[in-house]
Amino acid sequence: MPDSTVRDRVAPSPTGDPHVGTAYMSLFNLAFARQQGGTFVLRIEDTDRARYVADSEEQIFDSLRWLGLDWDEGPDKGGPFAPYRQSERTESYRVHVQKLLDLGHAYYCWCSSERLAQMREEQQKAKRPTGYDRLCLGKTREQRAELPGFSEQPVVRMLIPDDVSLVFDDVVRGEVKAPRPDDQVIVKADGLPTYHLANVVDDHEMHITHVVRGEEWISSTPKHVLLYDWLGWDRPAFVHMPLLRNADKSKISKRKNPAARLLWFRDQGYLPEALVNFLALMGYSMPEGKEIFGFDEMVAEFDWARVNTVGPVFDLDKLNWLNGHYIRELPVDELARRITDHLSHAGVLPPAPTPEQRALVLAATPLVRERIAVLAEVEGMLGFLFAGEDLVVEPEAAAAVLTGDAGAVLAAASTALEGLGDWTTPAIEAALRAAVVDGLGIKPKNAFGPVRVAVTGRRVSPPLFESLELLGRDTTLRRLRAAAGLVAPPAAP
Ligand code: GLU
Repeated sequence: MPDSTVRDRVAPSPTGDPHVGTAYMSLFNLAFARQQGGTFVLRIEDTDRARYVADSEEQIFDSLRWLGLDWDEGPDKGGPFAPYRQSERTESYRVHVQKLLDLGHAYYCWCSSERLAQMREEQQKAKRPTGYDRLCLGKTREQRAELPGFSEQPVVRMLIPDDVSLVFDDVVRGEVKAPRPDDQVIVKADGLPTYHLANVVDDHEMHITHVVRGEEWISSTPKHVLLYDWLGWDRPAFVHMPLLRNADKSKISKRKNPAARLLWFRDQGYLPEALVNFLALMGYSMPEGKEIFGFDEMVAEFDWARVNTVGPVFDLDKLNWLNGHYIRELPVDELARRITDHLSHAGVLPPAPTPEQRALVLAATPLVRERIAVLAEVEGMLGFLFAGEDLVVEPEAAAAVLTGDAGAVLAAASTALEGLGDWTTPAIEAALRAAVVDGLGIKPKNAFGPVRVAVTGRRVSPPLFESLELLGRDTTLRRLRAAAGLVAPPAAP
């Protein structure tokens, strides 16, 4: 039975350009919320001021919107439990920390970072478990100040009981056992709460019923459960999703893998619907192993029992295959619109292309749609159409192709095309064949290479005669002549 009281959330930290994991988590949270008729919340967890990056929040919004993973409540939208940015909720954290201190579940700690580092080193040397040794527990500020390693600004720590339960229920994993936690810091020396406290207070105050997040948070959950219990709050349900992994099974990170950056997919020209399908496929099995499906189908079939708990390997070949499929499914005019946007984004076209430029992309789209897996490939393929006077012939292409007979080919091609009545693909093809293949007796395989390099600047291009038609006579002739000047003179006998 759907339950419209379901509320879940994604809670990214604005610490740089958005991680692909944020989209992955948003997708699963959103699919579940939509299936239940519930609410999906976006909360910004920005209490770690040392790692805060100013425009990261906007990038998170933009990239999730680009993927169509839109939220119901959030910092930009408001909602009944606003504010949705942790830096604006500090008063609430303060009240709850005071309560934990009063109940004896938390204590002040004045140990300096030097003392903590030294303590850890000694524990490691002695092969003892590392963890805070509770030097400050039960002491007043004055008592502690008498001892070495005192710092003026205290932190607040949780007093983890000896009999802490390390086991909790996970919706997809069943009973999970986490390692024993240290006396976790919940308020830092700067007075701001750590993730653990702020996350629990917010999830409670925002009436979150399902905490759906990555498996890297499993070891934090026993601490969170304690906080819920100490504060007398109901625990939410926990779902720990498998992390996306590199081929070597390590966690996918921005350092090691460009695909960890959500913006990378946009720059490469992946279609949002393909990326959403791919991310779903990474953590989820559809009935009958269906591989191509949209968000709405995922929602209709959504069931936590279908989540795979084994960390999926991020398979770029699979994504490219899916993206190619989605590209070829789009109607030509829609694909042309996406290609135009991509070319603008990449700087090949201006931010607001002219109607002529749009028309040219539309006419060129059928020439590339079967040949590309990502829209970024179009930059190279169609760049020649928009380069005008600035076409740069790739030196490697010139060196390989603009040699030998190329001078004669270019001259014959220019003459044939100059006088051509009808500037259409069949007429261009017939004229070039007559002039170069028949006229000069050069095999078709070698005949058109110099023409291609001259007008497109590259050895690989969309079909040649269609390309010339789109480029127009004047530009074609100008480029044929310019390339004649690049042809290497024959080597001296
Ligand atoms: N701020 C945490 C993150 O960046 C949220 C984790 C959670 O969902 O509890 O992933």
